Amino acid sequence: MAATIVEMTLTEDLMSLYRVDSQLRGLRTRVENASDLVALRKRKFEKLTAEHVEIATRFRQLQAQLANLEGESTDYKIRIEKLRSELNASTNDKQYRAILTEMKSLEALRDEIETTELGEMEKIETTQVETTSMAESVANQSRMCDAARAEHAECAAAVAERVEELERERAMAAGRVPEKILSVFEEVAEINDGEALASVIELSKKDRDYTCGACHVTLPYHLVVNLHSSGTDLQQCPNCNRILHLETEEAEAEV
Ligand SMILES: [Zn+2]
Repeated sequence: MAATIVEMTLTEDLMSLYRVDSQLRGLRTRVENASDLVALRKRKFEKLTAEHVEIATRFRQLQAQLANLEGESTDYKIRIEKLRSELNASTNDKQYRAILTEMKSLEALRDEIETTELGEMEKIETTQVETTSMAESVANQSRMCDAARAEHAECAAAVAERVEELERERAMAAGRVPEKILSVFEEVAEINDGEALASVIELSKKDRDYTCGACHVTLPYHLVVNLHSSGTDLQQCPNCNRILHLETEEAEAEV
């Protein structure tokens, strides 16, 4: 009889530890999720910023290239104009033809440069549109980062008090559980996302058919017998390692 009372108390203690532990985990997860969102948005912001720098650099390079081309074509124009005066001043046919040939070849080169200029101008226009749109994306992402940071700060502030309270409660609840059992609880909670406990489900008393309430594996009957008889020994599910407990009226009422 005494064993039963101890066993129930231990189950109850584990249950209250479990309840406060999952509340704490829930709150911490909320803050962690908010913090993950900040990191995620920051990474995207950095990626967009790098892309913007790249395209803005390309835009400036294209502008410089165009300025060079414009300079070159002006040079050609000046040389062509000079040749034209020479042509007008030419005194013989041979000289005239020679100047004319040179002029034609310079004009062909000038035309080539002007065609290249037009191509470059098109590229500049496209790049300018891309640069502007990328700058907008960066600004937008920066606002998203600010929003996520504000949300994270808000969330952390909102739960801070409750977390402190729960930490105290958890310490008290943990203090009621024997050290050895507590370390099993911590270990099992860690591998099962906080779900350290599982109830035994009775499918058929007659067939001695019992399963783990969490992972639904069939439990060896001796585990169930041990749970009924032993007061302080923990019984763990052989599959998921969760600490098993019997469904008691008290436990059910509390859950
Ligand atoms: Zn299990």
